[in-house]
Amino acid sequence: MGLLHTKGTSIAAQNSEPLAHHLVNIAKAFHFISWLLSSPTERRQKLRSTPFPTEWRGILHRRFPLLACLPPADQRELEGHIQVFLAEKQFEGCDGLVITDEIRVVIAAQACLLLLHRDTDYYPDLQSILVYPSTYFSRVTEEDEKDSRGFAGQSWQRGPLILAWDAVQGGVSDRSDGHNVVFHEFAHRLDNEDDRIDGAPVLEPNGAPLERLSRYRSWARILSKEYEQLQRASMEGQPSVLDEYGATDPAEFFAVATECFFEKPRQLRQKHRQLYDELKGFYQQDPAEWCLQALSTPPGSGQ
Ligand SMILES: [Zn+2]
Repeated sequence: MGLLHTKGTSIAAQNSEPLAHHLVNIAKAFHFISWLLSSPTERRQKLRSTPFPTEWRGILHRRFPLLACLPPADQRELEGHIQVFLAEKQFEGCDGLVITDEIRVVIAAQACLLLLHRDTDYYPDLQSILVYPSTYFSRVTEEDEKDSRGFAGQSWQRGPLILAWDAVQGGVSDRSDGHNVVFHEFAHRLDNEDDRIDGAPVLEPNGAPLERLSRYRSWARILSKEYEQLQRASMEGQPSVLDEYGATDPAEFFAVATECFFEKPRQLRQKHRQLYDELKGFYQQDPAEWCLQALSTPPGSGQ
């Protein structure tokens, strides 16, 4: 012990840099151990309160136009959620795609927009996000070999979520076309949090039983009516603010309605007020009002 101590002192006397480096490493180790011992809630709270990297904020402002519509308090909340999301989820590039901060931050921002103002466990069944450079072909079975359809995104129950980066870029660059593959796939993920992909996510999780029952009844009544209406419009070739892909089944209806809620909120509220109000109740957000406020706020005023 004495020899080691003497040796350390001797080295420090010759050059204080190695000792300082050693102390920094010890401090980092302590920090890491205390991090491991803290509860998930504490870890997430620390992540949310960590200063948001300037480079990431630059990416958001350049690549996520919808951000400009968000109230400043929501922008700060979103940044906190992004830090938790990126600390907990793994990104994997496929077909040679190299995962960059831009890819991670752009996807995380859209995924986390769906979590604002709500109690969230950050998509607990999701560990991995696979990103292809462009539309990809999913061939799991021999039958799939005959399926030549390309995919912009897929969400596997309790498995990875898959996205095509060109589709993500197309969706995020136009904030008002009603098409956003990240909103779509992550809405499926929320729908599946009760282990059923049926177009009904978990409603009022902290509400009293009667309150929850009332919410589910209202959701089922209105979304069923709107789904059937979209099916009829699709069969008759009538235009709708909702993409006709939502007429596929109730789960796709919820995912498509989510895209529309965030990207065409004013049209959705005008044409489908009850559907808009149900989604507003679930997402605890009112994007039709953000848009009005954003339009009335001069550029560069900090919004
Ligand atoms: Zn879908």
